Amino acid sequence: MDQLLTGIHQFHTNVFQHERSFYTKLASGQHPSALFIGCSDSRVDPSIITQARLGELFVLRNAGNIIPCHGASNGGEPATIEYAVSALGVKDIIVCGHSGCGAIQAMLQPEKMAKLPLVRGWLNQAEATRQIVTENYSQYSGPALLEIAVREHVLVQIENLQTHPAVAVKLQRGDLTLHAWIYQMDTGEVLAYSTADGGFAALNHLAPHEASKRSVANHRKAKKPSSR
Ligand SMILES: [Zn+2]
Repeated sequence: MDQLLTGIHQFHTNVFQHERSFYTKLASGQHPSALFIGCSDSRVDPSIITQARLGELFVLRNAGNIIPCHGASNGGEPATIEYAVSALGVKDIIVCGHSGCGAIQAMLQPEKMAKLPLVRGWLNQAEATRQIVTENYSQYSGPALLEIAVREHVLVQIENLQTHPAVAVKLQRGDLTLHAWIYQMDTGEVLAYSTADGGFAALNHLAPHEASKRSVANHRKAKKPSSR
């Protein structure tokens, strides 16, 4: 705790005071461009891995970066998503999983959560991921299975996200882009899924115009009605 209190002092003295106009301007309102949905893991900080400044990302984090389907949870997730999309008007939603995710590991071994009933109940929201992995990747185990599960999981959450009415409306209008990312803790890379090639690729190896194309295809976007 002492380290955190020292940090608060250092922030106010060395950071806030030096950029007072930037921080006080933020006090008048927020206009984030993206909603970042990630894991609560202490090693995966959205602002660190994207180098975003305050005010740029609206952030939703929970154990396992889970997005319950619309109607499946009365928790903060659906409200946060609705507010980001409908009130703040974010143009992008990033769902970011990460390598070595303890929540995904626990989801694969639910018997180890006997003494954590709330965690077990929460991870039940990711049952689709568990079944996809156990039924389709039975030849894998250990770290390789976890890596597959992390990737499948983020794609399942992208599907869940689209069941939320606010998201569906903006997708239909073509006003929203969805991104499935994986943060690799051992290399510092961020992998992004592209529907075009059906795989993940490291964004830092791509030119900006190539990196910006790696997103989830919007199949909801309305086709222009044909003229008669
Ligand atoms: Zn995690």
